[in-house]
Amino acid sequence: MAPPAPEPPLHVMLVCFPGQGHINPFLRLANLLASHGLRVTFTINLSTARKMKSLPSSQCRSQELKLEPNTSSSSHSGAAVHFDFFDDGHDEESIKRVPLDQLMTLLEQTGRKALPEMVRKYADQGSPVSCFVSNPFLPWVSDVAATLDIPCAVLWIQSCASFTTYYHFHNKLVEFPTPEDQERDVVLPGMPVMKHDEIPSFLHPTTPYGFLATAILGQFAHLDNVFCVLMETFERLEEEIIGHVSKFCEVRPVGPLWLGAKASVGPGDLMEADDDCIGWLDRQEPGSVIYVSMGSIVGMSAQQRAEMAHGLMGSGLPFLWVVRPGHEEGEDADLGLPEGLGERGKVVRWAPQEAVLGHVAVSCFVTHCGWNSTLEAIGSGKPVVAFPQWGDQVTDAKFLEEVFRVGVRMGRGDTWTKLVTREEVERCLREVTVGPRAEEMRENAVRWKREAEAAVEEGGSSERNVREFVEEVKKKSV
Ligand code: UDP
Repeated sequence: MAPPAPEPPLHVMLVCFPGQGHINPFLRLANLLASHGLRVTFTINLSTARKMKSLPSSQCRSQELKLEPNTSSSSHSGAAVHFDFFDDGHDEESIKRVPLDQLMTLLEQTGRKALPEMVRKYADQGSPVSCFVSNPFLPWVSDVAATLDIPCAVLWIQSCASFTTYYHFHNKLVEFPTPEDQERDVVLPGMPVMKHDEIPSFLHPTTPYGFLATAILGQFAHLDNVFCVLMETFERLEEEIIGHVSKFCEVRPVGPLWLGAKASVGPGDLMEADDDCIGWLDRQEPGSVIYVSMGSIVGMSAQQRAEMAHGLMGSGLPFLWVVRPGHEEGEDADLGLPEGLGERGKVVRWAPQEAVLGHVAVSCFVTHCGWNSTLEAIGSGKPVVAFPQWGDQVTDAKFLEEVFRVGVRMGRGDTWTKLVTREEVERCLREVTVGPRAEEMRENAVRWKREAEAAVEEGGSSERNVREFVEEVKKKSV
């Protein structure tokens, strides 16, 4: 008698929101789970997939793709990640013009229809989906999973501090600022007191971005649908807060994913990185360069760009500056930077950030404090000048300065509409590079780097949590 056919590997399907700050951690998790022997399908809307530099856009029709990892610098087994796409009815250009709130609706409408079809397709192919991992901006994925009777986890891609803040807000467990009491402090278990301008800014009554709070809070309304919250953090970084959150939620810190996911199918960059960043850094003195990047979404106003430029020039230090156009400007807008800027620094539209932060020439990071950038700074051991703009960035900035003690804040709260002067830019740069506390911040940053590395090593807390998650998925699928 023929031996029984081998069981197909467990199949986990990650559903990703089309933003760079989402794609990066989701792709990293995909790589990590694949290296544990799971079949992983990374799912995203088609028009965004066509912009991802690691995917051959000509092949991103409606068919699946399978990418082999780049394992040159890796000890991982090198399992492949599969990609599958759902059609959102747009092309790469027209999707850019869809406002964010309408994009949310569009993804829900098209995704709700497409995911069950994909699940049926994989079942027919003999590789049924064993588990979904949803995205905090796509809470409806857990509804779809429940309807299909497939277990669902979520990958929370902000800090645990932000998670517990949203949770307490959603469940009305503590007082938050109100229109009548806009400056109220927020007190949460395991956390330092948060001033009104330190809570994620979307939760403040004055925010013009209430719809983003609604989108994120949707995840908390659906929390019962997910059996586990994978979290892009690590235990030592947010120990006390994670301890509190564990009392009401099954939380598994698995980060920093960028350090853990050593085998890579290539970056999910939506923009082409300048290819001479590393060559330029190689030509600079060790520990001399200021790296400035505000992530993928927020740009600076022309006036703020000018202040930043003069502050950088005034510091007397070389700099690598990722300059993105402001919100009202097009991608190709003339950025109107002051003359002479290029003599001391290099200005690019997009940089290979992981490699830049890991470079010995970089001394500090002026960051908007998106959570990916925050963890990339921490895992690289680089002190920061925190220049938050909105959302959870303002909370991350507080933690970077006061709790992790690796930097200073340049401007408080939602700085979107406020101007930080060239004098303030220069003062902060000096404080972090040569000021009386600079050495202490550098030491703290290096200490956090070691902690981050220890978390993802074999037997470290995050590595263990990933393995336990894989075991849990196995148990659920029998
Ligand atoms: N990033 C990059 N090159 C750049 C700027 C940003 O590769 O020039 C990456 C960065 O490494 C991070 C992501 O883009 O992984 C941005 O995510 P984050 O959460 O920091 O900010 P967001 O873009 O979501 O505001």
